[in-house]
Amino acid sequence: MTEAPLLSIENLVVDFATDDGLVHAVDGVSLTVRAGEIVAVVGESGSGKSVTAMSILGLVRTPPGVIRDGRILLRGEDLRAVSGERLREIRGGEVAMIFQDPMTALNPVMTVGQQIAEALRLHDRDLSADTARARVVELLRKVGVPDAEQRYRQYPHEFSGGMRQRAMIAMAVANDPDLLIADEPTTALDVTIQAQVLDLLRTAQRETRAATILITHDLGVVAELADRVVVMYGGRVAEEADVRSLFARPRHPYTAGLLASVPRPDLDGELLSIPGSPPNMIDPPGGCAFHPRCPMARDRCRTDRPELRDLGDGRRSACHFADELDEGSALFSAEEAAG
Ligand code: SF4
Repeated sequence: MTEAPLLSIENLVVDFATDDGLVHAVDGVSLTVRAGEIVAVVGESGSGKSVTAMSILGLVRTPPGVIRDGRILLRGEDLRAVSGERLREIRGGEVAMIFQDPMTALNPVMTVGQQIAEALRLHDRDLSADTARARVVELLRKVGVPDAEQRYRQYPHEFSGGMRQRAMIAMAVANDPDLLIADEPTTALDVTIQAQVLDLLRTAQRETRAATILITHDLGVVAELADRVVVMYGGRVAEEADVRSLFARPRHPYTAGLLASVPRPDLDGELLSIPGSPPNMIDPPGGCAFHPRCPMARDRCRTDRPELRDLGDGRRSACHFADELDEGSALFSAEEAAG
């Protein structure tokens, strides 16, 4: 029996009006998240991954953004069609978000403790102030904030970056959400703290059993946490697969390029990146948007836009020649990728 997905995004289209023209940020993205699973959405900056995530909770600013099309179904309820009141109820309740910069989510003029307590009481109006406070202190302890009692009374600026991220995770899991959306949760942190916050995210996910959408450009983070991966390029899904299959045998040249971009210990940790630049989203290249950077591109790729195809075993690829990508084939050599 296949369980209905917890979240299902269908054919999402989001544009942004800019002085230079209309940016086609998300162009027909469909993806699903099942209860309890961690789905990583990866891609370079500008791939549309964050806009896709922000659309779920109605956090795309309009204008300049316009959601042109698509449905976002949470347990069958279309979040694009619900009232503002219902959406506020869902935010921080059934669905919680962890941002790259906790300052985006934390109010600088309220103590950290008060904010988390407020989040709790917003979704449980019968909760007494004392019980809320006790729950917050416990939450802060759980996420590894030392001296939680004292920390409760401090303001966000009195917390270090790593501690702020812990506090935000505490706030996100406070109401036992069904879905967590983590947008580049470790990108702004230094490497040691990154590892601690990743561990914490893993523990939080395990304890709440919340399905998680993890937005990241970091394949190391994907390998650590994700069950399934959706690779985005130029506002579209390029490939989707379970994490092991994706790493073992990418079925889209862009994914192969991303994998070659992982820091390589054999090359003194040098980060190899894909030659060329991400597409101009105002006037994207015709055919396959990746063709100007693709080592496998042929004539057809310049004219014929590849649709996302089902390859079986839960894999999908938007490459005309997905079947020609062999296991272990080195599409991007060190010399090429360093260019
Ligand atoms: Fe490369 Fe063509 Fe596949 Fe696009 S469709 S990824 S250009 S081979």
